[in-house]
Amino acid sequence: MIRLFVNAALGAGAELVLDEGQSRYLGAVMRAQAGDELRVFNGRDGEWRALVAKVAKRAVTLQVIDAARPQGAGPDLDLVVALVKRAPLETIVEKAAELGARRVRLAITERTNADHTRVDRLQAIAVEAAEQTGRLDVPQVLEPVRLEKLIGGWEPGRRLLFCDEAGDAKPVLEALTGQPVGPWAILIGPEGGFSPKEREALRGLPFAIAVSLGPRILRADTAAISALTLWQAALGDWRS
Ligand code: SAH
Repeated sequence: MIRLFVNAALGAGAELVLDEGQSRYLGAVMRAQAGDELRVFNGRDGEWRALVAKVAKRAVTLQVIDAARPQGAGPDLDLVVALVKRAPLETIVEKAAELGARRVRLAITERTNADHTRVDRLQAIAVEAAEQTGRLDVPQVLEPVRLEKLIGGWEPGRRLLFCDEAGDAKPVLEALTGQPVGPWAILIGPEGGFSPKEREALRGLPFAIAVSLGPRILRADTAAISALTLWQAALGDWRS
């Protein structure tokens, strides 16, 4: 079943004219024909059944039929990731969407170089991953912010799982056991790691828990996937 994310409001009888990219995908790639059924969602109004009404190269029209699934949301989990190279950053955003993060916050740290981040491209990757996983909300990818600013404006009550490769932090599962369910964030550093000054500041935060992901140094994408997985299993929606 094809699932498409759209921006328009959804309701029975609504007519949707898809943008050029989605129209090309439906018409040329999926060979959709008038009368075919698919699903649409917008992150707010749940998932709806829709029929292809008209196929044109640049503007496929859909007719919304009825509601298929109510809107829901996964756990309140942010992934804060230092800017890394484009390919691993794209992997991180895709996997964060699959693994149920609600937001991806990009952080500028002492050892990152923030030159060419295309947040719109990363957001499109998050949309595609959400379409494929069946989730009805799309993780929001936020513009890069300096780490100290992000920490300075930290939302009260949100806990921070600081993935610290230095080796003396608590093993992640041990650290998560018994922690409260609620708003959390996972923090992953850049290829060059956090600077000693950043580590010290992070370790001093009352809402942060420094954790180890094992005795090997992982690449940022592997670290992000591992931490998201373990958090979901310990405190998220992988529990019964
Ligand atoms: N260049 C650094 C490694 C950075 S790895 C060095 O050689 O020391 C990128 C990020 O992944 C780290 O900042 C950390 O957040 C996370 N990470 C990688 N391996 C980890 C581990 N074993 N435990 C905890 N976090 C880890």
